[in-house]
Amino acid sequence: MKNIILFGAPGAGKGTQSAIIREKFAFAYISTGEILRSEIKKQTELGKQAEEIINKGQLVSDEIIVGMIQSFIESHPNEDLLLDGFPRTEQQARALDGILASQNRGNATVIELKVDKEVLMQRLLKRAEIEGRKDDNETTIKERFAQYEAKTAAVADYYKAKNAYVELDGEHGTPEQISVLLCKTIENL
Ligand code: ADP
Repeated sequence: MKNIILFGAPGAGKGTQSAIIREKFAFAYISTGEILRSEIKKQTELGKQAEEIINKGQLVSDEIIVGMIQSFIESHPNEDLLLDGFPRTEQQARALDGILASQNRGNATVIELKVDKEVLMQRLLKRAEIEGRKDDNETTIKERFAQYEAKTAAVADYYKAKNAYVELDGEHGTPEQISVLLCKTIENL
């Protein structure tokens, strides 16, 4: 079974590419960011807890996120997995390993979309105008980059050490051109 982690800094194109991939492959798909935004919209307990953290550009606790992922994986036992926005800390990556092992699902592979930081900032500011996401303002974006560098970049190293890491150019080319490379990579895994 495939367990794919679509990885990259904020604005790298994980959500865009996930949508394209899902038209071609039958993945069980989870975006932790999307789930959190929907919880905020519904103002559930979790949503209320997460709202302030997300609007500041910080990370929601590993405990909450891992619980969410665990129940998702357990409820999709025989499907290939596509994870978007998770794991975002080394502790989340270790927890994921444990969940996959306990479900006999094999290992996870990271595919990272690499994009220059200046380009990321431009993309996110442009998205702010179109989608109006509350965390897409310059101050929050800078904090999201800082969190990414302090906590999330280590996740790539964690999978590199396991030989379970592939890097793709997420910058040059249209989303469709990038998706062609991404689909080939997925087919070859
Ligand atoms: P982006 O990748 O553009 O920053 P996401 O939609 O993936 O956006 O995430 C938005 C916010 O949701 C993050 O800044 C963070 O606060 C929270 N979040 C999402 N996934 C996680 C996670 N795995 N661990 C902790 N916080 C998360």
